[in-house]
Amino acid sequence: MFSDFIGDFGPEGGYLLVRKPVLAQIGLQSREIHSGNETGGILIGSYRGHHIDITSSTVQQSKDVASRFRFHRKDKNHHGIAMKAWEQSGGFQTYLGEWHSHPEAHPTPSGIDASSWIRATEAIGKKMVFIIVGRQSTWIGYTYFDRKKCMIGRSKPAKPFVAADTLVQN
Ligand SMILES: [Zn+2]
Repeated sequence: MFSDFIGDFGPEGGYLLVRKPVLAQIGLQSREIHSGNETGGILIGSYRGHHIDITSSTVQQSKDVASRFRFHRKDKNHHGIAMKAWEQSGGFQTYLGEWHSHPEAHPTPSGIDASSWIRATEAIGKKMVFIIVGRQSTWIGYTYFDRKKCMIGRSKPAKPFVAADTLVQN
């Protein structure tokens, strides 16, 4: 039911990979909570040349604030989990983006989503990955810099015969 997502990663090229366990975790988590509020967390993975490889994620923590149309990631545990991944991997795995759910069939980013993603990306200074899980489909996209301006793009699925692991071997 869930599989690796491999898509384009903006005008600079490269692929965006989101591993199956991540899509399974955030998909199942969203479905569990979809009866009521939004939910969310952060995305952890690595930059591999032009590519980005999302390999794990956090889910809602106890101090996060969730409502029907907004998810505030307030709990410090998300940052703690990302720091732990960073330390345990010798600085290879890091915080690369965010995900949250929307109570709609086919989600698109809200104005608030766009401005918070741009703020996060400008703070880091590198392109990042953002996912919105809807009831029927998932929006997977990225931010990137066009000259100095931070832009948002939706990742278009790559050709199905590309295998994730062959892309990131370097
Ligand atoms: Zn949103």
